[in-house]
Amino acid sequence: MSQWIDGSALAQEIQSEVAVEVRRIREAGVRPGLAVVLVGENPASQVYVRGKVRTCQALGMYSEKIDMSETSSTEEILSQLASLNQRSDIHGILVQVPLPGQVDARRVLHAILPEKDVDGFHPVNVGRLVAGNPILKPCTPAGIIEIFRRYKIPLRGKRAVVIGRSDIVGKPISLLLLHEDVTVTICHSKTQDLAAVAREAEILVVAMGRPAMVDDTFVREGAVVVDVGVNRLDSLQKIRELFGDEPRRLADYTKKGYTLVGDVNPAKVFPRVSYMTPVPGGVGPLTVAMLMANTVRAAADWARVPVFMS
Ligand code: NAP
Repeated sequence: MSQWIDGSALAQEIQSEVAVEVRRIREAGVRPGLAVVLVGENPASQVYVRGKVRTCQALGMYSEKIDMSETSSTEEILSQLASLNQRSDIHGILVQVPLPGQVDARRVLHAILPEKDVDGFHPVNVGRLVAGNPILKPCTPAGIIEIFRRYKIPLRGKRAVVIGRSDIVGKPISLLLLHEDVTVTICHSKTQDLAAVAREAEILVVAMGRPAMVDDTFVREGAVVVDVGVNRLDSLQKIRELFGDEPRRLADYTKKGYTLVGDVNPAKVFPRVSYMTPVPGGVGPLTVAMLMANTVRAAADWARVPVFMS
């Protein structure tokens, strides 16, 4: 029996827990604050940033969106970050990626104070993650671990295959799974016979950015499949192939000219799995929920208030 994982419901659950922590920290005289720096006008980034700011406000946190022009220099962004690092009302700082080509992304991400680095990309936080004692974990991988935890899907001793080795998803989720006593294989674009390697997985995490590439030949019967990919699909023929006459998909296409699809072909893969995350409504909402959790953790740490949220 295949089951969809409801990422939106899990995100709501986590956000309710975050809201309780926010109230407690506010009682101690501190309002958790998140600053989101958006450089340029990438439409997808604007949607993501609006969602983050709105969620922050709904949970009782302070949030500030800093819009910088597409032509901003690295130095200009660094100077903005230096002032955010110093502010006592800002406990979390996030620079939305991707950054325009002229910006040195590494310098920018490394300029955020590690204790305010709610994306978990600073080398200090990466080092903690590798060492197995992370404080601020990267949001998408942390959200994936919450899926396993809250659906009570056992991890210890299982075989996982992660497709993708990015710093944002592939590498950190591999480490988090390793720390849960999972045996992990990491694949990438040079992996030979990818489908055969993937078929060994009891847990398959896919983060490639290749629309619906993973089909049934990649998936063993009964596997848990986590589809991290978010891709725009604008061919009506392909949409029908993947989703049949699903009214929501056809409405998406009529309204926006595209629908979102992951890296996994849902029509072919879902019948084989035990659990699978949908796109949209799977990993995406959890990423935002974990960002909220990280901001609260950073604020609590700053205010020296204990956190009871797990
Ligand atoms: P990325 O930095 O582009 O990394 C993609 C990875 O996939 C690379 O390691 C690449 O291998 C590998 N890859 C690409 N094509 C492949 C192929 N044909 N066979 C095997 N491996 C292949 O992407 P990312 O930032 O990790 O994001 C991946 C996807 O997740 C994107 O669709 C992104 O939009 C989505 N995403 C979603 C969320 C969310 O919250 N839902 C968050 C982050 C990302 P090489 O290293 O060899 O190039």
